[in-house]
Amino acid sequence: MKLTIIGFWGGYPKKNGASSGYLLEHEGFNLLIDCGSGVLAKMQNIIEPEELDAVLISHYHPDHIADIGVLQHARLIQGFLGKSFPTLPIYGHSLDNTEFAKLTYKEITKGNAYLPNDVLTVGPFQVSFLKTDHPVTCYAMRIEANGKSIVYTADSSFKEEFIEFSKGADLLLCECNFYQHQNGKSAGHMNSVDAGRFAARAEVKQLILTHLPHYGEVSKLISEASTEYTGIIKLAEEFQTISL
Ligand SMILES: [Zn+2]
Repeated sequence: MKLTIIGFWGGYPKKNGASSGYLLEHEGFNLLIDCGSGVLAKMQNIIEPEELDAVLISHYHPDHIADIGVLQHARLIQGFLGKSFPTLPIYGHSLDNTEFAKLTYKEITKGNAYLPNDVLTVGPFQVSFLKTDHPVTCYAMRIEANGKSIVYTADSSFKEEFIEFSKGADLLLCECNFYQHQNGKSAGHMNSVDAGRFAARAEVKQLILTHLPHYGEVSKLISEASTEYTGIIKLAEEFQTISL
């Protein structure tokens, strides 16, 4: 499977950037994971909105869902222009009825509630979930295909259950919204040392830090995380790809 990072800023997109959005491709199936502000514009450098086969949403904060509405418009308008494609399934949790309802739009998109205790099959992907520690209900995901695994933490402070959930993953896409000297616990986020320690204990093969802060020198996040984890650490970058 091939992961392309579309957007990685925490909270809101930095100038000309995008907040959370990750495109995962395998066997010709295009899955967009989270659809934050700026993602629709950026994603069109890679694929057209009508080429998406499914969308998977971790939680309903604007930096993860802001572009759902314009994605719906894009497919509506491309349909008016004569293209034909099926209704797009958008998978999200149903513990927020108001937000979940917005995933369905005419015949364009259809909200599908995932059951966090069950494994969800989306195209060629098997997805399992872990509820995170965040101010609103949010789920981390472990996505498997072809014997490879990616864990995406979504938004969360560190919780012990992450270790078993992420054990041995080929890639840990870990949120890192704070620097070492900051405590993200009350905000529901991790800092660089949390991410590094997590990666080491879960024995993941590679760590990518994402959901990055807008201030400070983000390269410091790597040196801070590397005090705990000796494997490969990268910062998320726009259009960065990782093939597993
Ligand atoms: Zn959030």
